[in-house]
Amino acid sequence: MTPPDLAALPHRLSRLHELAMDLSWTWSPAREVFRRLDYRLWQQTRHNPVLMLRLMDSEALARAANDADLLAVYDRAVSGLDVMRTGNGHMGNGQPRTWWHSVVSASTTDVVAYFSAEFAVHQSLPIYAGGLGVLAGDHCKEASDLGIPLIGVGFMYPQGYFRQRVSPEGWQQEQYERIDWANAPVQRAQTRDRKPCIVQVPLGTRTVLVQVWEVRLGRVRLLLLDTDLEQNQPWDRELSARLYGGGQDTRLQQEIVLGLGGVLALRALGLTPAVWHLNEGHAAFVILQRLRDLLAAGTPWEDALVDVRRSTVFTTHTPVPAGHDAFPFSLVEQHLAGCWGSMGEERDHFLALGTYDNGAGPQFNMTALAMRSAGAINAVSQLHGDVTREMFAPLWPDLAVGDRPVGAITNGVHVPTWVAGGMARLFDRHLGAQWRDRYDEPELWLRLHEIPDDELWAARQALRNSLFQFVRERARERFAEDGGVSRAVAGGAMLDPEALTIGFARRFTGYKRPDLIFRDVERLARLVNDARRPVQFVFAGKAHPADEAGKHHLQQIFRHALDSRFGGRIAFVDDYDLHVAHLLVQGCDVWLNNPRKPLEASGTSGMKAAMNGVPHLSIGDGWWAEGYAGDNGWLIDGRAETTDQGVVDDADAAALYDLLEQSVIPAFYTRGPKNLPTRWLAIVRRSIATVTPRFSTRRMLKDYIERAYAPAFKR
Ligand SMILES: *Cc1c(COP(=O)(O)O)cnc(C)c1O
Repeated sequence: MTPPDLAALPHRLSRLHELAMDLSWTWSPAREVFRRLDYRLWQQTRHNPVLMLRLMDSEALARAANDADLLAVYDRAVSGLDVMRTGNGHMGNGQPRTWWHSVVSASTTDVVAYFSAEFAVHQSLPIYAGGLGVLAGDHCKEASDLGIPLIGVGFMYPQGYFRQRVSPEGWQQEQYERIDWANAPVQRAQTRDRKPCIVQVPLGTRTVLVQVWEVRLGRVRLLLLDTDLEQNQPWDRELSARLYGGGQDTRLQQEIVLGLGGVLALRALGLTPAVWHLNEGHAAFVILQRLRDLLAAGTPWEDALVDVRRSTVFTTHTPVPAGHDAFPFSLVEQHLAGCWGSMGEERDHFLALGTYDNGAGPQFNMTALAMRSAGAINAVSQLHGDVTREMFAPLWPDLAVGDRPVGAITNGVHVPTWVAGGMARLFDRHLGAQWRDRYDEPELWLRLHEIPDDELWAARQALRNSLFQFVRERARERFAEDGGVSRAVAGGAMLDPEALTIGFARRFTGYKRPDLIFRDVERLARLVNDARRPVQFVFAGKAHPADEAGKHHLQQIFRHALDSRFGGRIAFVDDYDLHVAHLLVQGCDVWLNNPRKPLEASGTSGMKAAMNGVPHLSIGDGWWAEGYAGDNGWLIDGRAETTDQGVVDDADAAALYDLLEQSVIPAFYTRGPKNLPTRWLAIVRRSIATVTPRFSTRRMLKDYIERAYAPAFKR
């Protein structure tokens, strides 16, 4: 059995590789092709079609080429890809091809460049750490669906973000693996004359070469920068090795490469963006390169700045002052040494754009740079907008709070990516297949009551079962790895597939309070061990490698999972990534979020859960301050009027227990005819109906277009 030469795929399936290399398969019918091709291999490769095709032998592929059912799905997937790829403008029948072409003159050749330090598109491309990356990935997927001419620009980290293991003592261990390019859906970007796209970035007193990789996402392309080239010095080759690795020095150099290199890469590829969208401050050096270009062309400083402002959109994500990247001037002077020559007098003007004192004395602050240079600035929820206008008040000393130019565009998630197949088929049957084009219309979801209780419950049960299958298999693997029982038990080997299951998964860090539920161990133990109405918790999440406190939180959860007082009903599933996230947000019964208000800018995992009929149980922070409607989940509010954190934590924990005891658990376990939880399913329906339209990236992208992109296009 020889692995097939990719060029030698069976003629009838000759475009399989092309399908695998376009990550639009992750949310299009093409997904079904790979599931059917070899289901075991699909699972073993963690849904990586590129790797699957390398592992399949030619006999298996030949069999597939004679499977009529598979071929039908394949043909549909290929024609879907062609429709997406061929041209812009109008379909043959005069209908606009995409939403974008129906609202914007189709002749425009302008593009939106969307910069982000991380993109979460699929688990086979581990170039993301968490929420920021998921938002960026979902933004690009939605842009593809709507036909918005958007190009993503980020980093191809050859070692990605770390994979997480937990020692038998509960301590996080980080493993970095080199990405095998041959197994990943990336290829080298090529210039118009078919040469590899490589650009030169001035860094310090030297020049670093940056090569550009390309990922296809339907109509959208993602350009990923990488410094691992032989011609570079060893330390420069390492610059882009890892996401958020290294100290301030590495971080600053990475951000220079992203900002300057990204602009140069777009130019090398012949692209001229009309809108430059900076997702968080990491990419703010885009502004520097654009100013340099304008100055070099003879534009005076004032005019250059007006030009840049006209076309720059900035989204801020962090309500914590220390979360905004700021560097000592000496470091900035040193690493931008190669830029100053061409700028002459304007160097000081530029440094002034970033000067900001957030408590530690004046520094060069990336958020300040972006805010002073962007024409449209937004926070990621209404509440976060309020916090940001207060926090950065010194930037606008003469403006009243209400006049400070920071808007709010609440985050959303990409519905086709996050809604489970089982739920989507249920919606197909009862709402009609057109729900897939209309899911941002609230009226559509009023028809959810047409889904009978038993069908809705069956879909929920099936998703819970998939989660438990996965959790048990992972616990078994961990047991097999080191023979340690502790990792199997903590991993969820003793969970009960019938019990009310509450999920908590996100980055492990102090303000998210992952161990709040353990505030009163006795009270929790009573809930968990109730013989007739047991409750269980599944935790997952990584701590940043440098966040010792976060790792201690994780260790606490691990220890609780092994505490026999909780009877095996607390689990920690390791190596949280997009794959685990899908299973958890779809398969739990309730999604818990208890951050310290107002430190959660938006949060998105609760949106993913709610759309799958997993109601949200959360502090009224971030998006939930807007999303909670009284009947679509639960609001945790300890009402403590103090700044004493211990008192606030006690009050919030008590409010959480009260909700569980008086509301969540009774609703779940009260069963009616046919053993159906009628009351529960009413909450499930309200959760889906209220959250899906408003917290979709479709609503979000339309907001961005109207309030941030369109004004820039017009200017
Ligand atoms: C959605 C998601 C997040 C963000 O979760 P929050 O609750 O918003 O912090 C982080 N990591 C992964 C893998 C996700 O899918």
